[in-house]
Amino acid sequence: MRVFVLSKRKTILSFTISILTLCVYVWNVRIAPTIAGTYFMIHTSQKVIALTFDDGPDSDFTEAILDILNQKHVKATFFVIGKNVSQNPSLLRRMVTEGHEIGNHGYTHSYGQRTLTDELKQTDQSVYSATGTHTHFYRPPGGYVTKNQIEMIKDQGYVVTLWSVDSRDWRRPGVEGIVSNVAQKAFPGAIVLLHDGGGYRSQTVSAVERLIDQLNAEVYRFVTLSELQTFKDGMSANSN
Ligand SMILES: [Zn+2]
Repeated sequence: MRVFVLSKRKTILSFTISILTLCVYVWNVRIAPTIAGTYFMIHTSQKVIALTFDDGPDSDFTEAILDILNQKHVKATFFVIGKNVSQNPSLLRRMVTEGHEIGNHGYTHSYGQRTLTDELKQTDQSVYSATGTHTHFYRPPGGYVTKNQIEMIKDQGYVVTLWSVDSRDWRRPGVEGIVSNVAQKAFPGAIVLLHDGGGYRSQTVSAVERLIDQLNAEVYRFVTLSELQTFKDGMSANSN
């Protein structure tokens, strides 16, 4: 009987851990990118797609990604972290000069939301100091955002931006894995999540060129987030 009780407790514990793990997975992978009131895709019949890069600028990887985008004549959007901008202002100037768009990803990539407003302002100020342009799109670190925060961020004049295609490059699944994660899920009007900073991004650098070639072969055009909004037909999936 005693053995049975221990076994039952272990079963309940194991079941609880499994459910919690599943909840975290569902939140991260399924729910976060499709919160109402955010910009994560548009409905369009035209083959346009937006590549977005988070967590830079990074002195090791951002330049390599900019070189590839330049060679391929592709425009993208970079969600920069304010403190990284302060350390690499020339990379920001290069982004703007080469036609890319800059989004706001907070100042310290903090998941704590009490400082959200300050982080938005600090990052915007860093971007403005480096480039003379302000930020318009905000992507919350990790995609974590509540309905109240969405309203608060909108009140600051920002568009809360998530994604509809996750490359999962943050898991470092290999170059082939990153390319297929995007190519298999790409659709007209999609916003693709990639990273140029926040870790060792050599797989992403290698994947970007192949990804662009593959989507070009499928006659996709690459646009910034502002440009993507101009391709909406009818009602958008978001409520900005
Ligand atoms: Zn991030």
